[in-house]
Amino acid sequence: MERSTIVRVHDGLHARPATRFVKLAKGFESDIELIKADKSVSAKSSVKLMLLGVKENETVTVRASGADEIEAIEALIGYLEDPHAGTAEEERAEKASAEPAPVQPEAFSTNSDTTATGKLRGVAASEGFAIGPAFGFFPAEIKHENRLLAADEIPAEAGRLTQAFATVQHRMDMSLTATDLAESDRGIIAALKDIACDDELTQAAEALVKEGMDAVSAVIGATSRIAADFASMDDPYLNARADDVNAVGRQICLALLGQDDANLEAIPNGAILIADDIGAWDLARAPLKRIAGVICGHGGATSHVAIIARAHGIPAVLGLGHSVQELQQVKSVALDGNNGDVFPDPDQKTVDRFHAKIGVAETERQALKAYKDIVPRRADGTIIEIAANLGSLEEIEAAQEAGAMGVGLFRTELLFMRHIHLPSEDLQTETYATLAKAFAPHPVIVRTLDIGGDKPISGIDFPDEENPFLGWRGIRMCLDRPDVFKPQLRALLRATVHGNIKVMLPMVSDLGEVRATRSLIDECAAELKAEGRDYANFDLGVMVETPAAVMIAPMLAKEVAFFSIGTNDLTQYIMAADRLNPTVAKLNDVTHPAVMAAIELTAKAGVEAGIMVGMCGEAAGRADLIPAFVNMGLTELSMSPASIQRAKKCVWELGQVGNQKGE
Ligand code: PEP
Ligand code: MG
Repeated sequence: MERSTIVRVHDGLHARPATRFVKLAKGFESDIELIKADKSVSAKSSVKLMLLGVKENETVTVRASGADEIEAIEALIGYLEDPHAGTAEEERAEKASAEPAPVQPEAFSTNSDTTATGKLRGVAASEGFAIGPAFGFFPAEIKHENRLLAADEIPAEAGRLTQAFATVQHRMDMSLTATDLAESDRGIIAALKDIACDDELTQAAEALVKEGMDAVSAVIGATSRIAADFASMDDPYLNARADDVNAVGRQICLALLGQDDANLEAIPNGAILIADDIGAWDLARAPLKRIAGVICGHGGATSHVAIIARAHGIPAVLGLGHSVQELQQVKSVALDGNNGDVFPDPDQKTVDRFHAKIGVAETERQALKAYKDIVPRRADGTIIEIAANLGSLEEIEAAQEAGAMGVGLFRTELLFMRHIHLPSEDLQTETYATLAKAFAPHPVIVRTLDIGGDKPISGIDFPDEENPFLGWRGIRMCLDRPDVFKPQLRALLRATVHGNIKVMLPMVSDLGEVRATRSLIDECAAELKAEGRDYANFDLGVMVETPAAVMIAPMLAKEVAFFSIGTNDLTQYIMAADRLNPTVAKLNDVTHPAVMAAIELTAKAGVEAGIMVGMCGEAAGRADLIPAFVNMGLTELSMSPASIQRAKKCVWELGQVGNQKGE
């Protein structure tokens, strides 16, 4: 028998929901399949389910045949229609452990590179500076044995294979019982164990052994095929699962060979871990407290290694490619997790520079805590809001702990990038409302989707563009795609009922863009009213980050409630210097008189029109520039939470000096 339904699982059958669905299915003896379009897979394999790529709001069919088919269909359809029944906590924990943190602009430049000074460049995956002895983790590659088994050898080899799977599953179970395991690491190990137990993998390897292949080759064959399937999926989260499958395959091969993997237990205190490809499994159970930094040939900002490093505050540079091999022989290494630089065997000058940076950072971090709850004012008493730039709800706590006076930039891209489909209006409403409630009564400025050809997302087809930074992005794309833009505007109107939400538009270069957005907002408000839904109007502002916006700032100021200066893009557009291109990095300088003049013009136009002028580009957190910005009339500065206390101190001191001078 079979029944169809619409999937109501938020992320679709992704990771943990797929596992939960499989657990339910395995509780029934019937054969059960899940069917999407013309593809059907066993409902008892989470790997197969994930590879089916079932998304929220898609129609699927559950087919069961066996003694308990009615009960099975009832339970599985029930789960697809109401996945939250009793499982919300578990789902949240899994999501928190699996989601990428916001990606710094540098992290998009994934080309590894060796510079003239011997410096290497990779992906900035976890911020901070580190220097220490190099600890190479380059486990020997496991090779195919390529043994053809005689018919009478097959049963024993199959038995060895079963035993190896059981050994690895048992080791993972033992790790999961460790009491000192961080919750996020537990989620990662549990996900690896799901793979190690999955029928898709065990059966594929068994089938190869039954055909006469030796067990090691069979495991390599089965895992690389499944890993390739994950790697080819149209979703970065599922792509990263390919590394997990390979890591599990390696553990099973080692168990078959009776070998232990290269051991991280021996890593000395304060060492920098260097690897071509370290599995999340290896890192999660490593003595993380002793690791000062991580450098890896593989991986990117969304890989599990990056997630673990960030969760433990370990600076990391990933995605170095082949150049990581050059580090096999080095004695010491320094890394800058903010921009992706790696210095092999650094000279004394670099060593001194890194020690100084680390020392300064730590002393300053302690001393700055005193400024957490200060409300900084200009000498005339005007409050200068020091707010946080956030990219996901997981960052709320860090911002609150830093003393953020609201959110000056909520980048909504991650919400769109981390899903395999466009996030629904309801999910967006919930997200924006949660954010607003967390910071009320402070304002929360949500930026509408700022996505372009350089950061594509599934659900929107971007054309190939010669110059994506000058192309179809930000407000330009949104106005062309009301099917994407309107749900976001409706969600923002609905969420404003719950707090102090303001909305700003990215990449504005023309008054028409503001006017067209306003009429869409009016249209959305009218629809919500007709539907009898609660909503409230929000202040609409613009980011000033194109030279055009600077030039028409006096006109823009008459049409919007506030400006927020996006110095990251404003600098690259004013200077005509790609912000991701290290060869023109020198020109990408916010302190250049041309950029400072553009900021001043914007501030002047805003102040004269009586609207708030803020800044949310990286420059907002620079203590050396804050006095100039405050003098220009900026009253809001939004930055990464790590910079908030320093900025508060800076503005507070400025106010004190002004008072002494009687300003
Ligand atoms: C900016 O351009 O300054 C900005 C804050 O936006 P983003 O870095 O997200 O482009
Ligand atoms: Mg920008």
